[in-house]
Amino acid sequence: MTFELSEEHEHLRRVVRDFAESEIAPHAAEWDAAAEFPVATVRKMGELGLFGLPFSEAYGGMGGDFTSLCVAIEEIGRVDQALGITLEAGVGLGINPIYTFGTGEQKERWLPDLMAGRALAAFGLTEPDAGSDAAATRTRAVLDGEEWIVNGSKAFITNAGTELTSVVTITARTGPDEISAFLIPAGTRGFEVEPAYKKLGWHASDTHGLVFTDCRIPRENLLGTKGKGFQEFLTILDEGRIAIAALAVGMIQACLDRSVDYAKTRTTFGRPIGSNQGVAFPIADLQVQADAARLLTYRAAALKDAGKPIKQAAAVAKLYASEAAVAAARIATQVHGGAGFMETGPVARLYRDAKILEIGEGTSEVQRLVISRGLGLPVI
Ligand SMILES: Cc1cc2nc3c(=O)[nH]c(=O)nc-3n(C[C@H](O)[C@H](O)[C@H](O)COP(=O)(O)OP(=O)(O)OC[C@H]3O[C@@H](n4cnc5c(N)ncnc54)[C@H](O)[C@@H]3O)c2cc1C
Repeated sequence: MTFELSEEHEHLRRVVRDFAESEIAPHAAEWDAAAEFPVATVRKMGELGLFGLPFSEAYGGMGGDFTSLCVAIEEIGRVDQALGITLEAGVGLGINPIYTFGTGEQKERWLPDLMAGRALAAFGLTEPDAGSDAAATRTRAVLDGEEWIVNGSKAFITNAGTELTSVVTITARTGPDEISAFLIPAGTRGFEVEPAYKKLGWHASDTHGLVFTDCRIPRENLLGTKGKGFQEFLTILDEGRIAIAALAVGMIQACLDRSVDYAKTRTTFGRPIGSNQGVAFPIADLQVQADAARLLTYRAAALKDAGKPIKQAAAVAKLYASEAAVAAARIATQVHGGAGFMETGPVARLYRDAKILEIGEGTSEVQRLVISRGLGLPVI
């Protein structure tokens, strides 16, 4: 057993960190303030191979593993959580369903551009009345000859309305007790992308509601097995939860780095604030949170790479890392005092960006449900 990543993973970490520091960090605050999705930079992430990291070279992937993806998400998330989620959702939610459940033809059509970052795919599970209870999906798809007719709506869908978005995979009811998944190409008639939401954080990330009105797609756009769309999407979410945990690790590390720097240089009463135990000890706690969240995340990623069951480990990692990230952002803000509350300061964006980690891809309550059930508890 080893608690260290391989030399290959550490090399990737250095490459992605250099990219993040030079191409993303200098602009992150500006994109956040303008709520701008930085298309050119996302394309550059694609050129670096980040969207193809864990996938086979047959479709243009990098032939790496899931752990590599987590390393990249952590490093991008350390400087910009909005671009971290763009990568996480693009790969974990966008490409993964097509890669895992797509037919040969569907893979040939969509994957090369997605893996190269020339295009983005989105994942539409949540609806206005079906979030945690995603099985309450109301969107319907009815077969009419050689076409499916889709009617319904989706809420809060990441990467759904960018100029790179080529396709959205959605779940829809195909019978009273049956949910299936479908590929809806961008620009299909009857597929409307609503204006972007105004969000508390993740301003530079793209999030939209989607509306389908008599939207016709070819019969062959069914993704995966008819009637199994919901279960198939849930397996995608298990993997996504590990990736969200990696994003949370990036957040905690950013809080730690900035707090250490500030506590060494900011002086009160003639000495650095870090000389006070009241400041130093919460920062020591940040180190503990970073280590614990990182170990849980990479344990879950290693299980995934070993082909072992991940449901429980993914929920544990996501729950711990996301709650630790929110606590870390609160500590970092406190360490920075008034400067922590200023948008021009180094941590206000972290504070706003942290909260969603406890909500997206299954809330903390849903993770506790999954973990309790995994323990055999009769929780409903
Ligand atoms: C910025 C952003 C991006 C997102 N991106 C995507 C995306 O790309 N694709 C996608 O499909 N979805 C996406 N989502 C949706 C996200 O996954 C849901 O918001 C989340 O799953 C919660 O669903 P909900 O908002 O409907 O909350 P609800 O399900 O209405 O829950 C409200 C509250 O009740 C709690 N709760 C509900 N049921 C229970 C229960 N049985 N026991 C205990 N507590 C319970 C929840 O934990 C929560 O605290 C995104 C959301 C946001 C905000």
